[in-house]
Amino acid sequence: MRLRNITGSREIIADSSYVIHNPKEYKGAMKELFENDNPLHIEIGMGKGRFIMELAALHPEINYIGIEKYSSVLLRAIQKMEQNELPNLKFIRMDAEDILEVFDKEEVDKIYLNFSDPWPKDRHAKRRLPSKEFLARYDVILKKEGRLEFKTDNKDLFDFALEQLPLAGWEAEKVTFNLHHDEEMIQGNIMTEYEEKFSALGNPICKYIIYRKK
Ligand code: SAM
Repeated sequence: MRLRNITGSREIIADSSYVIHNPKEYKGAMKELFENDNPLHIEIGMGKGRFIMELAALHPEINYIGIEKYSSVLLRAIQKMEQNELPNLKFIRMDAEDILEVFDKEEVDKIYLNFSDPWPKDRHAKRRLPSKEFLARYDVILKKEGRLEFKTDNKDLFDFALEQLPLAGWEAEKVTFNLHHDEEMIQGNIMTEYEEKFSALGNPICKYIIYRKK
């Protein structure tokens, strides 16, 4: 998702107290920002933030960080937070490629990827957020017993994501190719913006929950 460049979005982000402006300085110390010892869950590629804001409202006992690459998109999430402030949610504007510079070893308890960009050309496979290259980064920052959850309506991307698991030393705990008709996995599901749009068109939503063997 890339919205039209919005004049002033960089300035609004720079002034926002919801945004972690110097995340590398908090590597290994994200807890300080929330002033508690609660678990940390992150969403990478959060878009306008609907999913993570709903989660954060439901779970005040968990700290959340939403990561988004584009200022114009992050701006929308900031505007929503202004309507409904959530003390347990912060945002970072960054490219997830740099995630190892921002989060320390095993600093994160759970990772969410929702409707990640498909990068359909083979030569761009490394940029896909569920690629083995990204799984290797998540392997560092995620606690050993942590879980990663991924949803998409893009079957090719989901098949690719499943193929990447053994290559990167991950295992699937749960998999569905039709989340909205899976009685178990649909429990507690929170819709993302893209999920609402594509499921309304009749696209089945795929989801996995993955972990590493000890
Ligand atoms: N997760 C939202 C949803 O499900 O409605 C948005 C999905 S949108 C297709 C993908 C989002 O991920 C876009 O906002 C895009 O800018 C962001 N994104 C893609 N690659 C990223 C990266 N490497 N680092 C951070 N954000 C990224």
